[in-house]
Amino acid sequence: MPEHILSGIKSIVALNLRKDGKLQREIADYLEMDRSIVSHYLHGRYPSRKVIEVSEKIVKLPMELSIPIISSLSDNKQLTKKLINSLYDIAIIYKSNACIGCGKCLECPYGAVNNTDNIGISIDHQACVLCGDCIDECPVSAIRFKSTGKLKFELISQDFDQP
Ligand code: SF4
Ligand code: SF4
Repeated sequence: MPEHILSGIKSIVALNLRKDGKLQREIADYLEMDRSIVSHYLHGRYPSRKVIEVSEKIVKLPMELSIPIISSLSDNKQLTKKLINSLYDIAIIYKSNACIGCGKCLECPYGAVNNTDNIGISIDHQACVLCGDCIDECPVSAIRFKSTGKLKFELISQDFDQP
């Protein structure tokens, strides 16, 4: 099922990139996949409407829930980061005045959190893949996703007339 949902998320992103005027080749490069599969996405042949609907439900969840789910769909974390950035207008932020220096976020599996002094940390936004682990770990909510609250995509399930 995770592979299907990953396909559903990719197809949402592909359709929206198309609406933004991107070429099929450009979309395939962006999504790191074969152009023939992108063609299926763009013509509503794959994945199924049911998968699209479930995928849309996931991306409409509160971001604290949806982003870790999307991040978990593939081991290719640069790809999942691109998908997340295509769907949401978000950044990860750190509030130093809330931090108690427990160090739990330093266990970031991608080495994106560093010590700055006795209690402070800094986040390397290039290295961060938006997995949300540090947000889960922080006991005082000093790290969060910050968002405008707006989705950067349009829903697509209604575009398809397929079972
Ligand atoms: S969200 Fe947090 S734990 Fe995940 S990669 Fe970014 S800094 Fe590391
Ligand atoms: S997990 Fe939270 S409180 Fe602990 S060091 Fe990181 S930001 Fe600070």
